[in-house]
Amino acid sequence: MTRHVPALVVGGGISGLVCAYALRKARIDAQLVESSPRPGGVINSVTRDGFLLELGPQSFSGTSQLRQLYEDLGISNQVVQAPPRAPRNVLIDGKLRPVPLSLPAFFMSSLINGSTKWALVRDILGKSTPPDGDESVASFVCRKFSAQLLDRLVGPFVSGIYAGDPEHLSIRSAFPQLYEAEKAAGSIVRGMLRLAKSRKGPRERPTLHSFREGNEKLVRALANKLGSALLAETSVTRVSTRNDGSFEVGLESPAGDQSVYTRSLILATPTDVTARLLSSLDSSFETLLSPIEYAAVAVVSLGYRKKDMGHSLHGFGFLVPRSAGLRVLGSVWNSSLFPGRAPEGQALVTCFVGGTTDKAAATREPQKLVSLVHSEVSPLLSIQSEPAFSNVTIWQRALPQYNLGHADRLARIDQLRAKFPGLWLAGNYLQGPAIGACVDQALAVAEEVRERRP
Ligand SMILES: Cc1cc2nc3c(=O)[nH]c(=O)nc-3n(C[C@H](O)[C@H](O)[C@H](O)COP(=O)(O)OP(=O)(O)OC[C@H]3O[C@@H](n4cnc5c(N)ncnc54)[C@H](O)[C@@H]3O)c2cc1C
Repeated sequence: MTRHVPALVVGGGISGLVCAYALRKARIDAQLVESSPRPGGVINSVTRDGFLLELGPQSFSGTSQLRQLYEDLGISNQVVQAPPRAPRNVLIDGKLRPVPLSLPAFFMSSLINGSTKWALVRDILGKSTPPDGDESVASFVCRKFSAQLLDRLVGPFVSGIYAGDPEHLSIRSAFPQLYEAEKAAGSIVRGMLRLAKSRKGPRERPTLHSFREGNEKLVRALANKLGSALLAETSVTRVSTRNDGSFEVGLESPAGDQSVYTRSLILATPTDVTARLLSSLDSSFETLLSPIEYAAVAVVSLGYRKKDMGHSLHGFGFLVPRSAGLRVLGSVWNSSLFPGRAPEGQALVTCFVGGTTDKAAATREPQKLVSLVHSEVSPLLSIQSEPAFSNVTIWQRALPQYNLGHADRLARIDQLRAKFPGLWLAGNYLQGPAIGACVDQALAVAEEVRERRP
């Protein structure tokens, strides 16, 4: 017999977990199915040889909804904040140099040439209009500022968030606030200041955070609240519509196969899975979702004895412009940011290799990746020994790319979805890949589901 489920959420990454939790909080008897034995998706914290490793995301950027979620889950007291004034570095001319993080610091910085500073003055005093069509991040930065800014600061920043290529990423989709700032105020700086002023609540210096036990604390807290409403090791294998407009969903688990039906189906799965599951409803879902590109990323964690390191590791880590010719995209100094990340006397450094500008890197053998990263990082951090510890995680589909045409693609997906009332999509390809953005999007979906119910 086909069992009825009032709302079914598919995919137990942060997007699905938050959506299912919010639905249940709204007294909707939602169930969450996750194909792997462990919920959390790419959020994965592991303790090995005394190191607390983050195999996926390294930290969170605070949003008000995230803070509220921590309160609800009773885990606010477990949050650990990175030192807000710790410098972020960028590799320029073979040296790690602090990134200017404020307007005065930008004008004082020797990383930026005079013509780029002058372009910023023109932005503040002048007026510009974004072109009609979609514009790449590279073209936006060169039109408004300079190729030097793109190479030294924006490109590395883009690597840090998307592991992407500024020539392909869309400014409108990947950095909507910058696009909107220019559109609304004719100036990036004036537009961003206007946006900051319009924000409600106390002004806080944004900083990164995690949890004492690692990022997975959030996942575990959500999973605990869901209890038996979370079915792990359960994959959705097919979706079809029934005559009454509800959805019939095939589930596969070690206990056997079963079918459920639901009036509210929320797919919080990556685009390849979503495309496959929805192609039976309309093949256009596959046509629109499948081409969304994902960057492959290798996460290489290295442990060193502090006495073998000449560098203080004071700061967040560093980013690398592509023009520097290294294959490491960036490095996070975990043990400088949060307590309990490395055993006494040791340091943990996590580096990223791959992305859409170096597709071959993430296909390498783990041991070769360790050697490659160590050989590039050790001169920068004056390291005199081999790593005492290493761990490599390769994500073939790490981060969705908000490339040119992404906004139009999402609009067409949404039009198609509207033909199937009761169907929703959640996930990191929709409103930003950051965990905070996924949480905000998942909560918005839960609210729509709640509003639609009789
Ligand atoms: C290496 C890396 C570093 C990152 N760094 C940061 C960072 O520092 N800060 C930050 O904010 N963000 C970072 N991110 C991005 C952020 O972590 C992700 O965008 C976010 O966690 C994605 O969550 P999700 O729930 O949308 O997707 P996922 O985590 O991909 O979850 C999707 C889930 O669906 C499940 N699933 C798939 N198919 C099925 C099926 N048929 N049936 C049932 N379940 C299925 C999967 O098993 C998975 O659990 C990083 C990501 C990566 C990979």
